[in-house]
Amino acid sequence: MITPDIPALFDLTNKTALVTGGSRGLGLEAAIALAEAGASVAITGRRLSWLSSAAEELRRRGHLCRTFKCDVSDEAQAARAVRDAADNLGALDILVNNAGISWASPAEELPIEKWNEVMATNATGTFLTAQAAMREMQRQHDGGAIINIASVAGMVGTSPDVLDAVGYSASKGAVIALTHDLAVKWARHGIRVNAIAPGFFNTRMSQKVVEKNRAQIARLTPMGRIGRAGEIGNVVVFLASEASRYITGQVLPVDGGMLAW
Ligand code: NDP
Repeated sequence: MITPDIPALFDLTNKTALVTGGSRGLGLEAAIALAEAGASVAITGRRLSWLSSAAEELRRRGHLCRTFKCDVSDEAQAARAVRDAADNLGALDILVNNAGISWASPAEELPIEKWNEVMATNATGTFLTAQAAMREMQRQHDGGAIINIASVAGMVGTSPDVLDAVGYSASKGAVIALTHDLAVKWARHGIRVNAIAPGFFNTRMSQKVVEKNRAQIARLTPMGRIGRAGEIGNVVVFLASEASRYITGQVLPVDGGMLAW
């Protein structure tokens, strides 16, 4: 029997990672976790002020972090951010496709512009960034790991009393389908593609929903609470590392059991 060197399997020393939407919330948590595991990290976002404070937070923890302003829904910007990150870091081994937005509205009233905006960022942005990263990884001939941040909302319908954001749910369903298909298509290039489907976490995006419905979310969750800080970054490290080297095309709910009822 092989005795695994567990710390070595999770170690990301000499690896390089790009986290889209890494300037706050779950993306910043992922960036910190990857850096703590040894990776050199770059983050993107649309607003420089958020990027600077995120880089400062990483610096306080002893990590250098490159920042690139980028709107992932724009093909040229997504491609440039991936190229700049790879050039600055020296390579690109890990991509966390985390940038996302939402729009709350009853389904029958959702304006088409908001549907398009959400799909452009969450679904198209994930695809464009994965495509650019794949080309970079293929050029390096060294494989890679892509982790898409989906949502439980992309797997099941949600009560309108808790989350009324049909465009968001549809975009996350697209991220999940993309995860399955890209995993199958890129396995031959040594690139693993997996997704994380978080339940509810308190971030800038979800603050209103969580504050208004905390008790109801707790009731819908076997573990009886929303996700806590630190409960996504560790899963990102697992899916980015050798510890998950035989896992691809999977969607891992991190939801306190919400989907297990
Ligand atoms: P936040 O709003 O806190 O963070 C979103 C991040 O994405 C920010 O860095 C933001 O920066 C960036 N971003 C948004 N739009 C774009 C864009 N077009 N191009 C580049 N960057 C962009 O949200 P969360 O941390 O909660 O969300 C992170 C991911 O987790 C999202 O994909 C979300 O759908 C998913 N998720 C979150 C859950 C939760 O309960 N919080 C549950 C399930 C999934 P800037 O605004 O400056 O561009």
